[in-house]
Amino acid sequence: MAAGDIAGNLAAVRARIAAALERAGRPPDAARLVAVSKTFPPDAILEAYRAGQRDFGENRVQEFEGKRPALELEGAVWRLIGHLQSNKTARAAQLFHAIDSVDSVALAERLDRAATRRIEVLIEVKLSEEATKSGAAEGDVQAIADAIRRMKNLDLRGLMTIPPWSTDAEVARPYFRRLREIGRRLGTPELSMGMTNDFEAAIEEGATMVRVGTAIFGKRTPPPPE
Ligand SMILES: *Cc1c(COP(=O)(O)O)cnc(C)c1O
Repeated sequence: MAAGDIAGNLAAVRARIAAALERAGRPPDAARLVAVSKTFPPDAILEAYRAGQRDFGENRVQEFEGKRPALELEGAVWRLIGHLQSNKTARAAQLFHAIDSVDSVALAERLDRAATRRIEVLIEVKLSEEATKSGAAEGDVQAIADAIRRMKNLDLRGLMTIPPWSTDAEVARPYFRRLREIGRRLGTPELSMGMTNDFEAAIEEGATMVRVGTAIFGKRTPPPPE
């Protein structure tokens, strides 16, 4: 993987997604690639856009707010995939088409009140203690979903999870299965799961969105604290 060859990296990731879908006996368009552009400048996003990429994931409201003016891109879909602090819900509702990290009724209510148009949301589910600090407990997901479904501006599309980090995709696979089962019970179509190290396993387990950063844009340098 050559840094600076974003178009080539994208083509390689798309080919791997297509192969994983085929192995799993799923249709070629059953999983969407979300290019995770956090920490990378607008130029990198533009390069991906010119290579046909449309769905992008960012994890910090403030960082994306700074990049957004340079990114008036027809058809681009901006997704917030990182934890959303309550004091940033209004800005997030303006900046993003989708918030993939809703993990409480209170956060959903704030978003619904701040939204001036319809926003797609996913509920982030925390399936392991070691995973991340954010995410709803599995036992709370149904209540959060019920609440969101009563809201005017939020469109509940499905679930997102981040399994414990590992270079071995088999470590993540049981978490992907679990998320799929929760989504099946909830009756929601979207499963956002799988990153650079494990997106093929996620697709085999039913992912409809994979969030890939490193394999497209290269290694990240740690961002400054927000
Ligand atoms: C950074 C990030 C990704 C992408 O991770 P890579 O390993 O670089 O593909 C995916 N999902 C979330 C929530 C992230 O914060």
